[in-house]
Amino acid sequence: QFPFGRRLPCDIYWHGVSFHDNNIFSGQVNKFPGMTEMVRKITLSRAVRTMQDLFPLEYNFYPRSWILPEEFPLFVAEVRMMKDSDPSWKPTFIVKPDGGCQGDGIYLIKDPSDIRLTGSIQNRPAVVQEYICKPLLVDKLKFDIRLYVLLKSLEPLEIYIAKDGLSRFCTKPYQEPTLKNLHQVFMHLTNYSLNIHSGNFIHSDNVNTGSKRTFSSILCRLSSRGADVKKLWSDIISLVIKTIIALTPELKVYYQSDIPAGKPGPTCFQILGFDILLMKNLKPMLLEVNANPSMRIEHEQELSPGVFENVPSPVDEEVKVAVIRDTLRLVDPQKKKR
Ligand code: ADP
Repeated sequence: QFPFGRRLPCDIYWHGVSFHDNNIFSGQVNKFPGMTEMVRKITLSRAVRTMQDLFPLEYNFYPRSWILPEEFPLFVAEVRMMKDSDPSWKPTFIVKPDGGCQGDGIYLIKDPSDIRLTGSIQNRPAVVQEYICKPLLVDKLKFDIRLYVLLKSLEPLEIYIAKDGLSRFCTKPYQEPTLKNLHQVFMHLTNYSLNIHSGNFIHSDNVNTGSKRTFSSILCRLSSRGADVKKLWSDIISLVIKTIIALTPELKVYYQSDIPAGKPGPTCFQILGFDILLMKNLKPMLLEVNANPSMRIEHEQELSPGVFENVPSPVDEEVKVAVIRDTLRLVDPQKKKR
């Protein structure tokens, strides 16, 4: 860390939140200009949808989504049309405020008319999306996967995917959504920040039990059940690459405007957090991309009522230390020179 105002050239600049420095003329910065904007829920949905229009089969890993409030009439019309053509279709939708995180403001609905269009959503745009009703369960619980992806360069496009990630578990056994259980966040939302407040949350003391496990421990389990884990990895890799390809055109525009070609400036790299849900049939679905994934390797433990202490989290440590270490190795300026 160096104090504000110090201007010694560095090999690697590690910014906390986003790219925000126009006074760097060499070296490498760990953020791309515009990335935070590009992975916001609405922008990501738009970018993926553009590709879905062009290549519907290639981009079928992202749930059908609508942008609110502007596409509310379209949402109502399309759902009505689909219900008319298939009366047995009983969908559920998930409404997610733009720019929200940690499950903040998210709710499930059964019908477009249930949307809280009054007040808040008019001011706070959101994405409404088809809810994936049949996720893969482990120990009867829904879980999602956080994978770490290094975008090492935009031109040429260089992407690295960490071999291990995190699996974050719900804390209440899963049931398909009904009007009665729609509000049960511990059953439907896998966010760590929410489930930690459930009495059932289990801090993991090793990588394959508890409410946060390594993804590799899940793969081991699936493989022992006879699942085709190689195919699953290849589907995940293709989802990651296609998502980044969808973001690339606009990222290049941001890049060229902040760091014009021919002028002295840094190069960029960035660790992204990909949140992926596995469906029952093992198909991976993209939920969201995080431009600033948490690299914490500790969690808070309540020693006595109201007294908290930071204790090491072996699962986070196992995965995240490797991500940072390998990232630094890959962007090592000495290696570049060699
Ligand atoms: P946030 O940024 O607030 O975490 P997410 O898009 O990651 O928002 O959604 C929060 C949680 O909701 C996810 O971790 C997942 O458990 C659940 N979720 C999100 N979208 C869907 C979906 N389309 N189908 C099923 N579950 C979903």
